[in-house]
Amino acid sequence: MRAFFETSIEFLKGVGPQRAILLSKELKIFTFGDLIQHYPFRYEDRTKFYQIAELTDELPFVQVKGRILSKEIIGAGHKKRLVAIFSDGTGQMELVWFQGINWAAEKIKTGVEFVVFGKATRYGSKFNIAHPELEPVININQKPASLHPVYPLTEKLRAKHIESKTLSKFMQELLVVAKEKIRETLPLSLIQRNRFIPKKDALINIHFPPTPEALAAAQSRLKFEELFYIQLRLLKMKVLRKEKFRGLIFNDAGLVTTFYNEHLPFALTNAQKKVIKEIYSDLKSGKQMNRLLQGDVGSGKTIVGFICMLLAIGSKAQAALMAPTEILAQQHFKNLGRYAAKMNLTIELLTGSTKKSDRKRIHERLQDGSLNILIGTHALLEEEVQFHNLGLAIIDEQHRFGVAQRSKLWQKNDNSVPHVLVMTATPIPRTLAMTLYGDLDVSVIDELPAGRKPIKTVHRFDSHRLQVNQFLREQIEAGRQVYMVYPLIEESEKLDLKHLMDGYESVCRAFPDYAISILHGKMKPEAKDFEMLRFVKGETKIMVATTVIEVGVDVPNASVMVIENAERFGLSQLHQLRGRVGRGAEQSYCLLMTNYKLSADSKVRIETMVRTNNGFEIAETDLKLRGPGDLMGTQQSGVLDLLIADLGKDNEILQRAREAAVEILEQDPELKNPENQVIRIQIDSSRKSTMNWSRIS
Ligand code: ADP
Ligand code: MG
Repeated sequence: MRAFFETSIEFLKGVGPQRAILLSKELKIFTFGDLIQHYPFRYEDRTKFYQIAELTDELPFVQVKGRILSKEIIGAGHKKRLVAIFSDGTGQMELVWFQGINWAAEKIKTGVEFVVFGKATRYGSKFNIAHPELEPVININQKPASLHPVYPLTEKLRAKHIESKTLSKFMQELLVVAKEKIRETLPLSLIQRNRFIPKKDALINIHFPPTPEALAAAQSRLKFEELFYIQLRLLKMKVLRKEKFRGLIFNDAGLVTTFYNEHLPFALTNAQKKVIKEIYSDLKSGKQMNRLLQGDVGSGKTIVGFICMLLAIGSKAQAALMAPTEILAQQHFKNLGRYAAKMNLTIELLTGSTKKSDRKRIHERLQDGSLNILIGTHALLEEEVQFHNLGLAIIDEQHRFGVAQRSKLWQKNDNSVPHVLVMTATPIPRTLAMTLYGDLDVSVIDELPAGRKPIKTVHRFDSHRLQVNQFLREQIEAGRQVYMVYPLIEESEKLDLKHLMDGYESVCRAFPDYAISILHGKMKPEAKDFEMLRFVKGETKIMVATTVIEVGVDVPNASVMVIENAERFGLSQLHQLRGRVGRGAEQSYCLLMTNYKLSADSKVRIETMVRTNNGFEIAETDLKLRGPGDLMGTQQSGVLDLLIADLGKDNEILQRAREAAVEILEQDPELKNPENQVIRIQIDSSRKSTMNWSRIS
């Protein structure tokens, strides 16, 4: 049975060797099994007819019933085209052909009732469909009305005349021969409990749904199944790793006690304490820790990381912290360096720009064990970086690292695997975390340090500039400082810079009595440092900048963030920028400036920012708006090559799938129960998922 779905696509009727090569190159369709899992990404509703009077630019493809009033060939040479006037009684539109003119002119007869199908575009007051599909109503009435599948394609395939229709033909051929071979892939109990339709029906209906209801039933079953198997594998991997790797045992909290009693600069929040406890119980358990620490910007993850380092060092192991950028690594080195000095611990910084001689010294100190803490960028992952005894590896902002890199850390010791703590400041929506890090345990810091007032966020239109400036003036008079951030919007850096400079000039004109800083990516490092320092010292009151201030700047007295053209920023970025203020004791503000015209998505983004300071809520909304592929760094992770589920939308299904996977593994960890036989077979056979699987492990 397996062999059937492993049959090369070349042997499907109508495909042949040439097209088989194309399909494999362009769509990674090699076998029958791959083809049947090439799901439509949308459906054309051929049950619905639009009226010309109700057409809008936003509609995707539309179907209109009417008659040709007249036809005419106009222009010459490459401008030659056939234009037909088409009417349905509610209005008129133009149908245009640039190619196959003679053929089309022959086919379209005036007076006959046609169904026209295509994308309507407005030109002036009239709508126009170029190269429409066209069929006499008489023919259409003989076919059953249904939803037509539209398949993902590439330009190259189109050029070789493999269209959605072609794939749909192949699919029909395949289903004829495959229908009887499709076996069930979920255990009966799951099917019954969720009232799923059988796998066979799901596969047929996902390609050729007779009704919208049948489509919905097929989708919910296939989405569940996809997410269920991902969860099952992640959970199995977690169990396996816990069994296989013995963790180093760190149970000496002596250094931590000293640090608490003598050097801790502030009282920890309850959330920080809770998380440290969770981590400590992992570290002394004898099992290897793989934990994700989530916490909003400014929630105080760094100190938690340091305290965990003390646990490792107290038990004679070394600790490492890896950050995604040089700036962040430097900042950690500076902050943790202060704590380390107080505790008489050795600490070094290793990045791409570390000098060779320093590198040599660091390598030696790592090897002989005299170095307690190493901070760095992905330079830490290089092979020559070997530890005497790495006990704890902390990764800051994990989502910028490929998941495979995490496992590289495990090879840093000869004989044991370090504990791994992944810290993320950009909150990852739960759905995504579950899929990307379903094999990790999760801790959350859900509380900001005391004394921080929530940032007040407002939306103002550009036309309110005078009031806004008045407000800024009041804040500055009260002793505060202001950030004004401009987006990188144009394709060209030159234009961006001009945009920023224009902004800078108008700010200078509006506030002639204050010193103003400017900061952008094209400035020399010394110039940047100089400007930054002036702002930190309070010599300048306003900092006009691009998004370079997103990371690495910490000025508690700066309590107002103005974001220009806020509609151009993504939600996560807006939230990160806003996180630059609200670090001091004063009330902080974030002003989102936009012009009047806002797209629907921009409106949602702005409204979300105004409504909530909660990074998780913001990340959820961001995921819904943009889809997971756009979220930073997640593209390479492999697990997100989902065939049908959509992490932005299928939260609820994911939840159920995960619960089901947990339950099954609890009751039958080895999957020995006869009812779970189908699961074993499925894990062994699904090639596409196995490919994903190998990429994340
Ligand atoms: P993030 O979670 O974004 O990495 P940081 O660890 O950089 O946050 O902490 C942000 C700021 O809050 C730092 O200046 C840090 O010293 C401070 N901080 C952390 N924990 C506390 C606390 N419990 N009380 C007061 N300030 C704290
Ligand atoms: Mg941080």
